[in-house]
Amino acid sequence: MGLSRCLYIGPYAVVEDKEHLVKVSVRACSSATCPAAKPKHTYDAVKSAFCPACGAKVGLMEIVVGTRLDYYEVMGETERLTRAGEDDNDTIYLIVNEGDAYEKRDFHYDYGTNEDLSSLSPEEIIWFEQRYQPELKALKDAYGDVQIRWGVHYYQW
Ligand SMILES: [Zn+2]
Repeated sequence: MGLSRCLYIGPYAVVEDKEHLVKVSVRACSSATCPAAKPKHTYDAVKSAFCPACGAKVGLMEIVVGTRLDYYEVMGETERLTRAGEDDNDTIYLIVNEGDAYEKRDFHYDYGTNEDLSSLSPEEIIWFEQRYQPELKALKDAYGDVQIRWGVHYYQW
């Protein structure tokens, strides 16, 4: 398994993906003193009517778990923007995932790229906001605030 590294220079979007708590119903042992009655044990682990650990009745219980939005569900099938960095960070950086989308230059730089980057203009941000309007709207609907920035990302996958 190889590791790829990439340098990205260009416009990107940022959203905060804080873990939030939700109540879910799970099948669980009803005994408060059961040694197995811990949240991990309760996730669909108890399929029978009685607890395999203590013999008490099994029923539906509400527990609170931490969860995050499913980023891939938010963005749908098109991967015109992609996530730079690890999947479990609170901050999601979304960079352009189309090599030839912007005519004037590619935002991705692999080893050996040699290009003069001294005359970049803010029009890339305007282009980004227009081209990815559907994605940015989906992000805003799901996460609330969406920031558009311009800068450098060094990431690996
Ligand atoms: Zn039990």
